Amino acid sequence: MRNMPAVLVVEDEPSIAELIAVNLRHNGFRTTWAIDSASAQREIDASVPDLILLDWMLPGESGLVLAKRWRAHPRTKEVPIIMLTARGDEADRVAGLDAGADDYIAKPFSTRELLARVRAVLRRKAPQTVGDALNVAGLSLDPATYRVVYQDAQLKLGPTEFKLLQYLMGSAERVHSRASLLDKVWGDHVYIEERTVDVHVKRLREALGAAGTMVETVRGAGYRLTAKPLVPVAEKSSA
Ligand code: CA
Repeated sequence: MRNMPAVLVVEDEPSIAELIAVNLRHNGFRTTWAIDSASAQREIDASVPDLILLDWMLPGESGLVLAKRWRAHPRTKEVPIIMLTARGDEADRVAGLDAGADDYIAKPFSTRELLARVRAVLRRKAPQTVGDALNVAGLSLDPATYRVVYQDAQLKLGPTEFKLLQYLMGSAERVHSRASLLDKVWGDHVYIEERTVDVHVKRLREALGAAGTMVETVRGAGYRLTAKPLVPVAEKSSA
């Protein structure tokens, strides 16, 4: 049973806790239920879970206070937290995310949505497998050494641009929509807008310099990395 992720459900309403626990167990998760902050802390002291579903409004300390404390503690700072709450406005959502929550689910929620969010957060937190070195038309990327080289010159890329390039090079010539890039590169696009992709593509092109034209915009479809970049059309002289 070692592969079953352990989820700590911190929720003072038994009917909601039960609904969550039943659905998670049915889908291959182990669950523990804590009814308040004191029992949640006891559970965590006994065993650090893989993920915490944390109700905002709890008797005693609120979920927000708990999220902040767990984020600050070395033992729990890496544990993904999804806040559950009836409070759904943007200010609350931002407060929850600021406190260190990885995601936020407004009550009432469907169990399908809950499972999707839980899986997305766990996927995003999973350690990345290193992957193979890639080479496309003189552009090479080695995940083991974290190096990108084009025509013998080493290029400097930020972490997101590196991941983006790794993904594009891994399926060169294929067109990827912004939504699928968010899913594959960012892992969870609940709070990231699609234009974020455009920003990072722009940075990637800049970082790639002469190889930047290999990252093509496919109008209405998305982006792809191609070994045969379009040659920029020279300005026609109108002499
Ligand atoms: Ca509550």
